[in-house]
Amino acid sequence: MLGPPGAGKGTQAERFALKHGVPKISTGDILREAVTAATPLGVAAKQVMDAGRLVGDDIMIGIVSERLSREDARAGFVLDGFPRTVRQAEALDGMLGSQPLVVVDIVGPEELLLRRLASRRMCATCGHSALPEEQGCSKCGGELVVRIDDSAGIVLERLRVYTEQTAPIVEFYRGRPNFRAIDGTATPEAVAEAICAAVAGVTGAQA
Ligand code: ADP
Repeated sequence: MLGPPGAGKGTQAERFALKHGVPKISTGDILREAVTAATPLGVAAKQVMDAGRLVGDDIMIGIVSERLSREDARAGFVLDGFPRTVRQAEALDGMLGSQPLVVVDIVGPEELLLRRLASRRMCATCGHSALPEEQGCSKCGGELVVRIDDSAGIVLERLRVYTEQTAPIVEFYRGRPNFRAIDGTATPEAVAEAICAAVAGVTGAQA
């Protein structure tokens, strides 16, 4: 699942994973859990994340490679937040071998992304992205908080980093038959339907 910050990747990845009974593998969530648990990874990643920059490729490739090797990812998975650089995309090809990969790029104009990020809240316990009307987390009842990296200055840096380091992977994938660009400006339901249709068209999965 590709797209700039605020495009709705996390929300859509969560919906898709639930509907299809596959794990959602979100590198942002994995890193935030490591920060909360103050593991060596979390301690090293916190400053980089708070500044809106990217954690190193080798670390991220190691994390995803280990996660994909687990039993629950055998029948499929949704990746959210990875790959984020061309090097990560190349490494993912290596991890998958001949397994099919569907690349969904959720697109939207910058003013919409900025508006969404300015009002975004997530659950401090489970990482769920909350809808504006949610008071507490609708999944686990946890407290909804604003991410440090969603503050105004850092958001601009994240969009800059996206343009510089992540947007090139859209070009890396665009020519492949399993690449789909999806309009992220529609309602979450409509975006979810478009993603299911795109993936079903490629894999024959039930939408
Ligand atoms: P976004 O809302 O921008 O999609 P994420 O929750 O996916 O944010 O990620 C939050 C932060 O975690 C990123 O800004 C970055 O610092 C770090 N991060 C997550 N995934 C990766 C990755 N694949 N490579 C490098 N850094 C990552």
